[in-house]
Amino acid sequence: MLNIRIERTANPRKKPEPGAPLGFGKIFTDHMFVMNYTEGQGWHDARIVPYQKIPLEPSAMVFHYGQTMFEGLKAYKGTDGRAYLFRPDMNAKRANASNDRLCIPRIPEEDFVQAVKAVVSVDQEWIPSDPGTSLYVRPFIIATDEFLGVAPSKTYLFIIILSPSGAYYASGLNPVGIWIEDEYVRAVRGGIGFAKTGGNYAASLIAQVKAHDEGFSQVLWLDGVERKYIEEVGAMNIFFKINGKIVTPMLSGSILPGITRNSVITLCRDWGYEVEERRISVDELIEAQKTGALEECFGTGTAAVISPVGKLRYVDDVMVIGDGGIGPVSQKLYDTVTGIQSGAIKDPYGNWHVCVDD
Ligand SMILES: *Cc1c(COP(=O)(O)O)cnc(C)c1O
Repeated sequence: MLNIRIERTANPRKKPEPGAPLGFGKIFTDHMFVMNYTEGQGWHDARIVPYQKIPLEPSAMVFHYGQTMFEGLKAYKGTDGRAYLFRPDMNAKRANASNDRLCIPRIPEEDFVQAVKAVVSVDQEWIPSDPGTSLYVRPFIIATDEFLGVAPSKTYLFIIILSPSGAYYASGLNPVGIWIEDEYVRAVRGGIGFAKTGGNYAASLIAQVKAHDEGFSQVLWLDGVERKYIEEVGAMNIFFKINGKIVTPMLSGSILPGITRNSVITLCRDWGYEVEERRISVDELIEAQKTGALEECFGTGTAAVISPVGKLRYVDDVMVIGDGGIGPVSQKLYDTVTGIQSGAIKDPYGNWHVCVDD
């Protein structure tokens, strides 16, 4: 249990008006959570303070060797007016999986969840209430030793910032076009692909630019060794419906274990679908599309929740999925997950819809 000191701002800022365009990750709230780590002392000085700059020396290790991790989740205003999170315990677990891989000290899961709840609670007036909007929560850790040697840092900062964000789909679910990248790769087994860390995104930018130039909104990565098997999209996991079965790449170590992915697998199994987590080759997809067996494709992630895919491009092939529109499973998953998040649908699992003040 953390002892969190709260220092409220003397100058609260103007919150966005209802209906104002929020975009994503551009506006920040009045407060942030901060906690220090020092070798020998552990995590200490948990506090909620006014949102502010962080003083760091140019030699701070995070700037040089990328020892950093982050998480991403959302807070919602429930139908009862209270503030809720979606499965924050899963973010706490995943944070420690990233920490372990990157030699960053662990944060006890209950402390991580307590910190997220506390800062969201302080700034809950910032949770927007227009349909589809939410308060994006960004916990992250940076290595702060002033040292240019390559070694795990002995000091760290854990910070949580909050950003009111607009609806991902301004006018309802919209199918996207996806570029299957055949040249660059994002991650390999044994690397850091399963960790939520900056380096994976640095590696992805070049293909994202390329895909955008070609008129596609997202990149779908192939495995880093054979460039033959499907891995995941930029910040989403990927699912297919092939011959009535739900199929998604297995967690092989090089893809991010998405919480939305886990939730979708749970829901689909409970609805009676057969769900396979396995290797899927591009060749299998091309073949399934030709024979009409490829019924749906969708991405899953905190930002979009469910992102229906209308077409996939691979080298000279452009595959239209189904009729290029939104498949029924994609739509039902979107309605169900967002319904549980807002409280409009009763949480069937008991621990998915978590009030920040309980
Ligand atoms: C965060 C992330 C996802 C999605 O994870 P969720 O927990 O569902 O938001 C998928 N892929 C990558 C690379 C990510 O960083």
